[in-house]
Amino acid sequence: MIQRILIVEDDLALQEYLKDLLVDVGFAVDSAGDGAEALAHLKKSKPDIVILDLGLPKISGETVCTEIKRKYLNIPVIILTAKSSTSDIIHGLNIGADDYLPKPFDGNELIARIKARLRDASDTKLQVGDLELDRTTLEIKRGRDFINLTPTEFKLLEYLMSNKGRVLSREMILNRIWLTSPDIETRVVDVYMGYLRKKIDMGHEKPLIHSMRGFGYVMKE
Ligand code: CA
Repeated sequence: MIQRILIVEDDLALQEYLKDLLVDVGFAVDSAGDGAEALAHLKKSKPDIVILDLGLPKISGETVCTEIKRKYLNIPVIILTAKSSTSDIIHGLNIGADDYLPKPFDGNELIARIKARLRDASDTKLQVGDLELDRTTLEIKRGRDFINLTPTEFKLLEYLMSNKGRVLSREMILNRIWLTSPDIETRVVDVYMGYLRKKIDMGHEKPLIHSMRGFGYVMKE
């Protein structure tokens, strides 16, 4: 199956370059030149992945990213932008982007990142240690025991497991899981992490969910 990429970029020369680059390696490519066009496009057809510039006319890339993650949680977003300081990168990931590549970038690196994100998004089973999550049957097993989770706990665990080994800040988690509720505070992340750790780690010798003081959480063996 040919995978579709949506490129959102207002620099038309770069948009054209990206199109050629990605069509050459076998992707089907659509493009949008501003944020409004990007959102209109998403309403009509769902790409497998979005490559998103942040500095866009009409509607900013940040807003587009937030909208994608609110409405179509499973479409990965890679941010491609000239804003490349560490705080920009953290901000990009905090608004729910799956990856971030500063300009100027290497075409091969972009292709590799796209393939990696598409692979992550298509895995039906996630595994960390003896914990398994099945995205199709929605079953969760640790060793031989099935675990029952609420829908929010499930989303949270899926997010942690698909980012195995990567520290996720409270803001990243909050924006990813509770995006639709702007009033919610980061404290809710700790509360839910508490529920999840009870169900996943309690009674097991090796915990899989680790809290990183002052940073957030990481899932690892
Ligand atoms: Ca731009």
